[in-house]
Amino acid sequence: MRTNSIKSIILPSLLLALMALMLSALAAPKWPEDNTVSPQPESESGGNWQESSSPTSDGLTVSGDGFDASYTLTLLDGDETLELTIAEYLQGSLAAEMPASFEPEALCAQAVALRTYVLRKCLAGPSDSHPEADVCSDSGCCAAWRSEQALRENWGEDSEANLEKIRSAIQATDGVCVSYEGSLAQTVFHSSSDGMTAGSGEIWSSVPYLTPVESPESSDDVPGYIQSVTVSTGDFKDTILSAYPEADLSGEPETWVSGTALTDSGRVDHITVGGVDIPGSALRTLFSLRSTSIDLELSGDGFIFTTTGYGHGVGMSQYGANTMARNGGSWNEILAWYYPGTQLVSAWDMVGQE
Ligand SMILES: [Zn+2]
Repeated sequence: MRTNSIKSIILPSLLLALMALMLSALAAPKWPEDNTVSPQPESESGGNWQESSSPTSDGLTVSGDGFDASYTLTLLDGDETLELTIAEYLQGSLAAEMPASFEPEALCAQAVALRTYVLRKCLAGPSDSHPEADVCSDSGCCAAWRSEQALRENWGEDSEANLEKIRSAIQATDGVCVSYEGSLAQTVFHSSSDGMTAGSGEIWSSVPYLTPVESPESSDDVPGYIQSVTVSTGDFKDTILSAYPEADLSGEPETWVSGTALTDSGRVDHITVGGVDIPGSALRTLFSLRSTSIDLELSGDGFIFTTTGYGHGVGMSQYGANTMARNGGSWNEILAWYYPGTQLVSAWDMVGQE
């Protein structure tokens, strides 16, 4: 019988506690049935994960409907199927998803987000796109993942130092996951935001802990934070009509764009072009823009899209996490900030290991 006690985090401010209370009154998200895990034990206040003397748990592997030392995670990497421990998976995923040059506390926060993500995938069962594996290494399908050999080839002489940083972040957060109301949380993340993260309801469906929060990164922290793309009026017209043939672009270009509506987080909800309301996310895809924080203007050269930040904007901002860490924020404060109302739990405790 394992007696790994649950530890809790103390929310960094009264504001967050109030937000958590307000959010708990909202409807809970619908979870896939097979993702439900047993209720977590009562939290003890004052716990500190990094000083925990609990045995390591990432050495365990996971599959089917629970966790056990004999389980393995199956990863599809190209044509290869690999059996990995959680720690082995996390090394390749953390290194592929966040630069090793980031602050240690940001890497820890990302490790917890990825651990939660992969355990959710394993508990959810086989994916339609690859029934033979729990996860794949394609970032367009699952999270990105790279083998140690590929990482070493990419890092060169920095390999040892980078691997040490990545492994330290995984060990420092060993076994820790983000939970909401007894289930593993949807720990989605993105590269950078424009002052505020996006609510999940702006793109997908609403989730209580994926609501807009302030994010501290700026152009000083993020390469390519603000980027402009100029599209000629001819290309703009062709691209819009290819997706929205009903749009009326018969008049002068000055008359094509007639309005923009913003979301709660200040991103483009939709933009009206030729009388058609085009969602911000569709506009982003159509013109390969970096985010839906879009400023659109017409100049002599054509339409200028100026975007701020990179990614869908929901959940943890990686550059925001790095800025928080540089300003002294701990990994548990970062996670509490970007996933308000959630708790940190041990994967072992959540499934009631024998
Ligand atoms: Zn996949």
